[in-house]
Amino acid sequence: MPVKPEIEARFEELKNIRQYLHTCPEVGLETVQTVAFVKKQLDALGIGYEDIGVNSLLAKIEGKGKGKTVAFRCDMDALQTTEETGLPYQSVVEGCMHGCGHDGHTTTMLAFAGYLANHRDFNGTVLLLFQSGEEGYGGALEVINDGLFEKYSIDYMFGMHNWPPYGEHQVIVHKGTAMASEDRFDLILRGKSGHASVPHGCIEPFAAVADFIKGAQSVIARKVSAHDKAVISITQVHGGSAYNIIPDEVVIKGNVRTTDPKVQDVIEESLGHLVAGLETIYGVTATFTYHRKHPPVINTTPELVIAAAERVVGKENVLTEELPAMGSEDYAFYMQKTRGCFVWIGNGSDSPLLHNSKYDFNDNVTVLGASLFAELLDEALSD
Ligand SMILES: [Zn+2]
Ligand SMILES: [Zn+2]
Repeated sequence: MPVKPEIEARFEELKNIRQYLHTCPEVGLETVQTVAFVKKQLDALGIGYEDIGVNSLLAKIEGKGKGKTVAFRCDMDALQTTEETGLPYQSVVEGCMHGCGHDGHTTTMLAFAGYLANHRDFNGTVLLLFQSGEEGYGGALEVINDGLFEKYSIDYMFGMHNWPPYGEHQVIVHKGTAMASEDRFDLILRGKSGHASVPHGCIEPFAAVADFIKGAQSVIARKVSAHDKAVISITQVHGGSAYNIIPDEVVIKGNVRTTDPKVQDVIEESLGHLVAGLETIYGVTATFTYHRKHPPVINTTPELVIAAAERVVGKENVLTEELPAMGSEDYAFYMQKTRGCFVWIGNGSDSPLLHNSKYDFNDNVTVLGASLFAELLDEALSD
């Protein structure tokens, strides 16, 4: 398999870096020590960088001539969960583990940085973004709000994620949506409390709650096209305090996933109509808040990654017809600002799934990922 021999030659060193990062995970936007470590590695490579967002870092490598600007992004943050791998390099931070492989993504980017440090003969500029706070902490938005796209005219941006249980030489490229959007909603239904024996003298909120829960599923069945994908899950219902008291307030919270922004519009609007109907039928007063947390990840240049990946792992190992994941990724925000693609690399068919307490990043992915990025740079600069 034609990974870059000089990246492969660093395998043991890269493995040590990755396993070191694994021992000291940091959560959310608090990637202070990780950034300090990355800075030291970049210093050793003679690569300049600047702080951006909140504890994110942007490295810059200028090629020999003026050309396109191509950005690559990795995430660095870990999960608030207790590791149960029993590995010699298991996390030493209580209740915190690299359970999504961002230790490996950071190392992959450092491997790519090392390669670029010795190959500055390209026409253009490469930006390497080491991002904090991917796991729901708004790290990408912090980077964008700090002016990434105002400061740099970025022609393409690419990102990768390891993906169990795909095989370790498999590369997965989605032509279009790779990962779903995530929206969250809060609904407060207010009625009038009273004795359980006289619901007709109260404004009883639970009938409205029941209709909302059923009605939300009807939105999927009746308002979303059979060709589209969407999930609405009710994840919290809070209300009441006694057997014999009708409460005056019930709170419902939920989560919505789709693969198409147009479906997000349909669902938000339909849930709004449903809530308005409950007010009319039951006389409750409703406060409905719908928050769009992440847009879907929509790849606009899959062909560049497919061409690059075929050179690294061979055509037979590049999968382009896989279903998108219904999980979300804040890389989606970058794809609203520039063209690019988010690629998955198999973490091994026997790997526990992401966010599992026994999960571990496959170190071979580092060499493959960095080689893929190197090929992808050639592809993007010659496009
Ligand atoms: Zn994750
Ligand atoms: Zn992740």
